Amino acid sequence: MTAASILLGDYTPPPGVRPSASLLLLRDGQAGLEVLLLRRAERARDWLSGAVVFPGGVLEAGDGEAARCVVGASDADLSARYGLARGMLAYALAAVRESFEELGLLLACDEAGRPASPGAHWASWRARLQAREATLAQACAALALRLDLRRLHAWSHWLTPPGTPTRFDTRFFVAAAPPAQLAQADEGEALELMWLPPAQALDAARGYKLFPVTRRTLQELSAFADVEAALAAAAARPAPLPRVMPRHARTRKGPTIIVPDHLAFAEVCKLDPEGLAHDVMTELVAGQAVRLSPRVIRVTAPNPGVMTGPGTNSYFVGDPQADRWALIDPGPADAAHLAALQAAAPGPVRWVLATHTHRDHSPGAAAAAAAFGAVVLGRRPAHAKGQDLDFAPTREPVDGECLMLSQGSTLRAIHTPGHASNHLCWLLEQEKLLFTGDHVMQGSTVVIDPPDGDMGAYLRSLQGLLDEDLQWLAPGHGFLVAEPHAVLRALIAHRLRREARVVAALSARGEASLDELLPEVYADTPEHLFPVARRSLLAHLLKLQEDARALDLGGDRWRWLGA
Ligand SMILES: [Zn+2]
Repeated sequence: MTAASILLGDYTPPPGVRPSASLLLLRDGQAGLEVLLLRRAERARDWLSGAVVFPGGVLEAGDGEAARCVVGASDADLSARYGLARGMLAYALAAVRESFEELGLLLACDEAGRPASPGAHWASWRARLQAREATLAQACAALALRLDLRRLHAWSHWLTPPGTPTRFDTRFFVAAAPPAQLAQADEGEALELMWLPPAQALDAARGYKLFPVTRRTLQELSAFADVEAALAAAAARPAPLPRVMPRHARTRKGPTIIVPDHLAFAEVCKLDPEGLAHDVMTELVAGQAVRLSPRVIRVTAPNPGVMTGPGTNSYFVGDPQADRWALIDPGPADAAHLAALQAAAPGPVRWVLATHTHRDHSPGAAAAAAAFGAVVLGRRPAHAKGQDLDFAPTREPVDGECLMLSQGSTLRAIHTPGHASNHLCWLLEQEKLLFTGDHVMQGSTVVIDPPDGDMGAYLRSLQGLLDEDLQWLAPGHGFLVAEPHAVLRALIAHRLRREARVVAALSARGEASLDELLPEVYADTPEHLFPVARRSLLAHLLKLQEDARALDLGGDRWRWLGA
């Protein structure tokens, strides 16, 4: 058993991974929240060379001993934050020790609880700690100080992915910088210290070398106006904090590392759960088949654009054993895409399904059905605008209808009007994976264009999906999406926030035209998107009319009815 494993109680990091801790020290500067960063010296063959990082380092055997010198934090509370029975105070103490060694800043108070200010012996104790000649507990005893963790909170938990020269299991803490102390770089380490607003540290013009974890943490911090707001957010986070492991992955240009803010992150985690494969693509490449599970293969069409994002996704769904497949959303009528689908088809395709009949989803159906000898299932369009009027299904599925691909693979149709009145989502029940078409797109707002688009119906359809047992969403545009229920709730909340703005703008005026309401309701939207926003505004007003709260006076004028 190593010193670290004794120190950490019931927690053992994965083999070869070093337990470490890092401290985000915050202060309120003139331009708002500032965080303390270190720039490492440029050194040959040093992976940290030139990097801009937060203070921190690996745990030392003596770190746990300083627990007896602490005020304002308990091992039980910090451990619960990180999902363990015990052992996490040692991480916090390692972070505190490192900030003393690297910066000369000590989160400490005197016996009476007053903030500590550097005395005559601080420098020599700092040097002894750096030289591993003394422990933090000994320094506290000699300086008659308590370690003041009253304004320290757990922030995040990161694990360096496999395939990195040195791997760390790092707990991040956040604290208000101690008053009455000045950060001072340690000359031996050749560090440059910088107090910076997080957004400035991220500014590409500065050209800082930032590790993915540092970049992500700075992005998180940039959301807060001041120290109080950041500390309050840290204190309010639900425990336990999730452990984040970045993933080595690939783009067309070569290897890359991605963190959770990347649209492909959830999909990469699903396809490379241990982080060992390093070969999952973080781009949707037209024509390239991606196996998302034994039953699901995705091929993206070569039709990227403003309304289609990276292009329309076509999905093969089936059962490798039974060798019968369905193709969901054949996409546009495009010879190159059909050729890609034929090349990627994992077996005989019996069914071609259309989620809806917008021109980027269904026009390829006839040619695909002919090529595969399949039948076409989908619902005919109810309106002409923007629709594939040539769509000629063999049959129109109804809500709840199950398509038995095999004994072990069932697709259930869920009628989800809103984006389009004939929209069907398909649920692969065995994988709790929902093919959402355009009902839910990844990373962008779905267009609701009346009369075929219907905001009231759209919200009811989203609400209805909350009753389904779902694990993944496979959208018509974008990567696989995790945590479906949270995503659905966020989409509903987003629309209701917009509706509240419509209500505020119309009720204040009593009567107004669409063009009077538009700039107020969509003040956060770039003007070049106003033509699309105008359609959404109309959709919101029609929903309010359905709710008997607004009245269409004709000529694009609307009256507020109250309530
Ligand atoms: Zn659509």
